[in-house]
Amino acid sequence: MKVKKQKRHRKSLTFYTACFGFHKPYRVLCDGTFVHHLVANRITPADTALANILSSPVKLYTTSCVLAELKRLGKSYSEALEAAKNLIIARCEHDKCVRADSCITEVVGENNSEHFFVASQDADLRKKLEEVPGVPLIFGLRNALFLESPSAFQKEYVKTSEEGRLHMTNKEYQIFRERAMNRLAAGEADNSNTEIVENKDSEDPIASAQAIKRSITSRNKIGIKDRPQFKRKRAKGPNPLSCKKKKSREDQKETKGDNTAKRSRKRKRSRKGQMSAEASS
Ligand SMILES: [Zn+2]
Repeated sequence: MKVKKQKRHRKSLTFYTACFGFHKPYRVLCDGTFVHHLVANRITPADTALANILSSPVKLYTTSCVLAELKRLGKSYSEALEAAKNLIIARCEHDKCVRADSCITEVVGENNSEHFFVASQDADLRKKLEEVPGVPLIFGLRNALFLESPSAFQKEYVKTSEEGRLHMTNKEYQIFRERAMNRLAAGEADNSNTEIVENKDSEDPIASAQAIKRSITSRNKIGIKDRPQFKRKRAKGPNPLSCKKKKSREDQKETKGDNTAKRSRKRKRSRKGQMSAEASS
């Protein structure tokens, strides 16, 4: 069971490091509910416990809004407040303290650019953060800590952004187009293809793409290869190990090639016969 959990955690960590650029030491942003859970279940020292499940040194963060909320909750959370005060304060833009969950959501932002793991016992907050790309979530269950597996949304996000990278972006297209146009302008002297110049100002992307395509094909007339050319593999001849020894140059020629060679060989043989017949007569 424990091995299975480790394996799952490792897989999730690989996902976040590979797809979102998380790096060690990991930064864990804790909210009040999580700190309270740590204290109540005596999961101490907290950084060691978290380092164990993330198999990396960690830095624990919280926000001043979280501290304020713990303070507001009174005596039953005083121990959690004292523990939370030892954490690093992640900067939030709230002069007047807001609810802890909205503060954390804002610190994480649209794409978690600070690479925070978020640790919370608030299931609603975790669910909300599942919809943000690149937010690993941590929660406690009694005295064990868990790293949630990437949500379906996050996996889908990575998949679509990967697909996006495979295609040309608008900017890349612009650069490509510009270069093609420049090359065209340079080669215009010996190229009477004026259509391309006409299309230069048109806003229709398909038309200009076609123009670029045409320019490439017209370039090919000059003899520039625009894609690598691969040699086709062909049988160079029969397997030399299964053949009789070559006798002469003519024989060597005959063995080259395929069906046509076979036919020519037959013809040659008959001619040879004739020749020998002539010689003998
Ligand atoms: Zn705040």
